[in-house]
Amino acid sequence: MSAVQQRGSLTQIELAGVTGLSPATVSNIVKELTAAGVLHTAHSTRNGRRALQVTLARGLGLVAGVHFGTRSLRVSLADASMRVLADQRMPLAPDHRADTGLQRAALLVREMLLDVDAAPDELLGVGVGVPAPVDVRTGRIATVGMMRGWDEVDVGGTLSDDLGAPVHVDNDANLGALAEARSGAGAGHDAVAYLRVSHGIGGGIVLGGRIVHGRGGVAGEIGHVTIDENGPICRCGNRGCLETFAGAGVLLAMLSESRGPLTLRDVIDAARAGDPGCRRVLFDAGQHLGVATASLCNLVDPEIVVVGGQLADAGEILLGPMRTVVEQRTMPSVSGPVSVVPSEHGATAEVRGALTLALDRARVGGALGVSA
Ligand SMILES: [Zn+2]
Repeated sequence: MSAVQQRGSLTQIELAGVTGLSPATVSNIVKELTAAGVLHTAHSTRNGRRALQVTLARGLGLVAGVHFGTRSLRVSLADASMRVLADQRMPLAPDHRADTGLQRAALLVREMLLDVDAAPDELLGVGVGVPAPVDVRTGRIATVGMMRGWDEVDVGGTLSDDLGAPVHVDNDANLGALAEARSGAGAGHDAVAYLRVSHGIGGGIVLGGRIVHGRGGVAGEIGHVTIDENGPICRCGNRGCLETFAGAGVLLAMLSESRGPLTLRDVIDAARAGDPGCRRVLFDAGQHLGVATASLCNLVDPEIVVVGGQLADAGEILLGPMRTVVEQRTMPSVSGPVSVVPSEHGATAEVRGALTLALDRARVGGALGVSA
C-alpha cells in the first residue's frame, strides 16, 4: 500500500518490481486488498500488453492542497493516490486580509468536495503553502512583516476549525521543493534545492525525502541571502537581499520608465520576441540568482537545483546566465557542475506539494491504514 500511495498508480508487475515480492504474491495481496475496499484495480494497455493497474480506492478518503500566492489562491483536491480530482485558481487582492483569504480557501475546498460528490468527513487532511517562513510546529508565520495582515494568524487552526480536518502549514517553496523531489525534476535525487522565482523569491531544500526546516522555519530562504551588503532595504528588513535584485516587482519597476506598466508575462513574451531591454533585465536577474545559488551550493551541495515560479517561464534567457554564474562561483568538483534545471510541475508545484504533505501526514497518522 505504501508503494501504491507513493507512486499513485502502477501495474501489478511494477508493484512486484518495487516491493521485491513475486508476481503471484502481489496478485494475491492485491486481490485481498481490493476485496477489502482498500485498493482499486482497472485493466489497462501498456506498450501493447494488457496490464492490471493498481491504485488506492477512492473510499480511502481525499486530501486538499491550498497555495496562497502573493496574488492568487490555488486549491486542489486529490484522492489517496494523488490523482487530482479538481483544481481551481482565483485572484487575491495584493494586500488581502488573512481572514478573507482563509475563508475563500475553506469555501473552495467545500465546493470542490460537493462537486466530486464527497461528504465533508471524507477529507483526511489539508496541506497549506504560504509565501513566508512558517514555524511548522505552530502553523504560524515565523517572520513578522513578510505577509501583510497575516502576522500572528493561526493559519492551521483557523482552517482546521472551518473544515473539520487536520491542516498542515508550510512555506510554499518548501512544498514546491517536496513536489519536485518526489515526482518532478528532482525525482531520484537525495539532495534537491528548489527556487521559486516570482514576485517574491522563495527556496526549499529536501534532503533524503524530507524538507529541511531549521530552527524556526527559515531554512532555504534564498530570496533573503545577501548579495550586496550595501544594497536596498528588503521587505524582511535586511539590506541587499537577492529578492531586492531579482524579484519580479523590482524587474518590472526597472522597465516601467522605458516601457510603461508591464506584467511579468509581458516581459517574458517581449524577451522571447527579442526586446533587448526585457532580455537584459532577465539576464541580470539570472546572474543575481546564480550568485545566491552558488552560495547555497557551497553550503548544501545539492545534486540538482530546480527553478520554478513564474519567472522560470523565461527558460534559458534566465537559466543560461544563472547556470554560468553558478559554475563560476561554486567550488570546482570532480563530479562537474551541479545541474540547474526548470521545474517539471511548473505553476502546480506548490499545490502538489501541499497535497503530498497532507497525504504524508494522513499516512503517518494512520488515517490511510498504512504506517509510515
Ligand atoms: Zn530580505
